[in-house]
Amino acid sequence: MGSKVYTMGTDGRSHSAASGLVQQMVTVFEAAGFAEMIRPGDAVAIKLHCGEWNNTAYLRPVYARTLADRIKALGGRPFVCDTTTLTYSTLSTRATALDLLITAERNGYTSATLGCPFIVADGFSGTDDVLVDLPEGYILKEAYIAKAIALADVLIVLTHFKGHPIGVIGGSIKNLGIGAQSKRGKMNVHMGGHPKYGFGVAIDFHPERCKGRAGCDRWEACESCCPYGLFHVTETSIEWDREHCVDCLGHGGANTWCGVCDSPEITQRAACAAMADGCLAAVKTVGRGKVGFINMAIDVSPACDCVGYADMPIVPHLGVFAGRDPVALDKATVDKAAASQGMPGSAAEDYGAEEPGTPKFSTVSAHSREDMSEEIQLVTGSLNGLGSLDYEMVTVDPVADRTLWQFPDRRSTRAKFQPLYAKDDPFPRERHDGRGYKRADEVDLDRVSQHDD
Ligand code: SF4
Ligand code: SF4
Repeated sequence: MGSKVYTMGTDGRSHSAASGLVQQMVTVFEAAGFAEMIRPGDAVAIKLHCGEWNNTAYLRPVYARTLADRIKALGGRPFVCDTTTLTYSTLSTRATALDLLITAERNGYTSATLGCPFIVADGFSGTDDVLVDLPEGYILKEAYIAKAIALADVLIVLTHFKGHPIGVIGGSIKNLGIGAQSKRGKMNVHMGGHPKYGFGVAIDFHPERCKGRAGCDRWEACESCCPYGLFHVTETSIEWDREHCVDCLGHGGANTWCGVCDSPEITQRAACAAMADGCLAAVKTVGRGKVGFINMAIDVSPACDCVGYADMPIVPHLGVFAGRDPVALDKATVDKAAASQGMPGSAAEDYGAEEPGTPKFSTVSAHSREDMSEEIQLVTGSLNGLGSLDYEMVTVDPVADRTLWQFPDRRSTRAKFQPLYAKDDPFPRERHDGRGYKRADEVDLDRVSQHDD
C-alpha cells in the first residue's frame, strides 16, 4: 500500500455544480484531512505560483480564495505567498518583492480577491530565510527556506501542475523545491558555485562564436545581462569571468541564442534532483503532519508559469489530486499524463508524444533530451525520504456538506428575489400589454440555423 492520493476521478471534467474544479479542490482538501491540521489561531501559508508577467496558464485566484475562506472558517489565519525569483532573464518580473507584488496584482492576486494578505515569503530582495540543515539530502546538505513559509504553523501547497524547462515537471515537489527557497536558496538548488555541476564549471563556453561589438547588434544586452557584471563584450569577441558565476540564469536569452553559452544538461539534472531536497527542507521547517499538497492538473502547459507566455496544453485536463506525500502525488499526476492522449495541435504533437503511454514531460518539456527525465525529482524524493513512489489512488464523492462550496447567499431563489422583485421588477410588465417587450411574433429560425433542408 502506497501513500494515499485523493481525487474525484473526473479526469478534470466538470458536469455539474458538484463537480466544478473549485468543488473538486474543496472535496480533496477535506478527503485528505487537511481541515484537521488547522487549529484556531494557526498562521496558514497557501504557497502558490502567482505567474510571470503575461503568463496565462497560472491558477486563477479563485482557488486560493476558496482555500483562504475555508481556513478562516476553521479559525486559521491564512495568507497566500510566493517567493522572489532569480533574475532568470532580462525580462524577469518577480525578482524583487516590489516587482513580484506588482506582477501578482496584475495577475489577480490581491487581498481584495484573496480575502487575506498576499505575502512575499522571502522578503524584499530574497534573503529573508531560514537555514535548514539537511544531512539526509541527496545532493543538498543544507537549504534556505523562505521565512514566511518556514515559520507558518500549517502549509497548504497549491500547485498548478505543468511542465518545466529545467525541472521537466512543475508539480508539488517543485512548488516547494524551488518555490519555497529564498533567492539565495534558489542559487543553491540551481547549483550556483558547485564544483562539478555549477554552470560556470559545466558549460561549454564558445567565445569563438561571438561576433563582438563590431558584428552583433545585441551586444549591449549581452554585456548587461549579468547582475554580477561577469560578461564583457570586446570589439571582436566576449570575455566571461566564469569563476564567479552563481547560476542565476540571468543571461538566459541574451547570449544563449547565438550558441556562445549553451545550457549544460548536467547542471539541469542536478538541479532537478536538488528540487526534491529543497522540498524536503521546506517540509521539515513546518513539520510533516502540517503540510498538505494539492495538484491542479489543468491547463497543462509544456513550460512553467515562470515563462512570460503559455503554450497550448499538451494533454487535456487530468484532474485535481491531494495528499500528504508530494512524491506520490506528483508520480500519480505524471502517470495520468503519460496515460493520456496528447492534445492535437500542441507541442505533444511536435515531439511525437500524442499516443497514450508516452511519457509526456520527458518527451515534450525536456525537448527529448535523453538524460533529462520527469523521474529525476520523483526518484530523488523517494531516496531522500521525502515520500514514496507507490501510491493508492482513492476516488471520493463530492463533499456532502455543500456549505463548503461557500456560495455567498444560500437562501432559496424565492426567499431572495421575491421581495427584491416586488420592489424593483426587472420584467417591464407595464409595457406592450403585459408582454413586456416589442418583438416580432414569429420568424423563420430555420433560415438562421443554416439547415440544408
Ligand atoms: S555572445 Fe552572442 S549576443 Fe553576445 S555579443 Fe556575442 S554574438 Fe552577440
Ligand atoms: S554568468 Fe552566471 S552569474 Fe552571470 S547571469 Fe549568467 S548565470 Fe548569472
